[in-house]
Amino acid sequence: MITVGVLALQGAFIEHVRLLKKATEQEVSGEWDFIEVRTPQELAKCDALVLPGGESTTMSLVAARSDLLEPLRDFVKVHRKPAWGTCAGLILLAESANRTKKGGQELIGGLDVRVNRNHFGRQTESFQAPLELQFLGEGAAPFPAIFIRAPIVETILPHQQGVQTAESERDDTIVAPSRKTKDAAAEAATAENVEVLATLPGSASHIATQGRDVNPDLEAGDVVAVRQGNVFGTSFHPELTGDARIHAWWLRQVQEAIGKQEKLAS
Ligand code: GLN
Repeated sequence: MITVGVLALQGAFIEHVRLLKKATEQEVSGEWDFIEVRTPQELAKCDALVLPGGESTTMSLVAARSDLLEPLRDFVKVHRKPAWGTCAGLILLAESANRTKKGGQELIGGLDVRVNRNHFGRQTESFQAPLELQFLGEGAAPFPAIFIRAPIVETILPHQQGVQTAESERDDTIVAPSRKTKDAAAEAATAENVEVLATLPGSASHIATQGRDVNPDLEAGDVVAVRQGNVFGTSFHPELTGDARIHAWWLRQVQEAIGKQEKLAS
């Protein structure tokens, strides 16, 4: 049995649980348990974790108040258990993010990237774009990606290995505190490079803007999905669609990662 947690402090966690269940009913074999995570005790039961979209500042404040920030950092960065962040969740998993006017928040980290929050502007600049996702397989239909005050991955950072980088010197930036991995399997997972898994389509004119003008900031080629070893992040919200393909793909990644860790541990 593999237990997958969905961080349920704020945001679209119910939607993630629904699509994870749909993915296992339709496409992924094995025995799964999906739980909502609000406490360190619940997190301790999880083999993998989803961090939903919502509001990253609120999520990190509630996580700090619930004594979850450190356990979350251990989960992602020390033990390198599989984690997937969508939108606000991606922000929390970034090693570095821009500070917004409201002030920054504490990051968990795990992905050696800098994200630019609210890259496309405000709520009214939300849009949907069809994304070609190679990882869903040859000839897969485009994925209907929903972007709501979405971040993008602006820079891929040099792998940190616990060393403070130039990022932490910048006034406009918040960085995640570094943590060291402890075992061989986690070490192997940390050494992976950041892979770009999706960018916005070739031309901004492909993007459906629900009748509004295309936001001039919206650039073709913006990075909207990345993976580094066991840590995966998407700028958009697969949980707000009825399409369970990314959830199914990620659950298969989780199965593989757990298989690899068991092999290395034996
Ligand atoms: N802009 C939001 C933040 O900073 C994220 C938006 C979302 O998750 N839809 O947390």
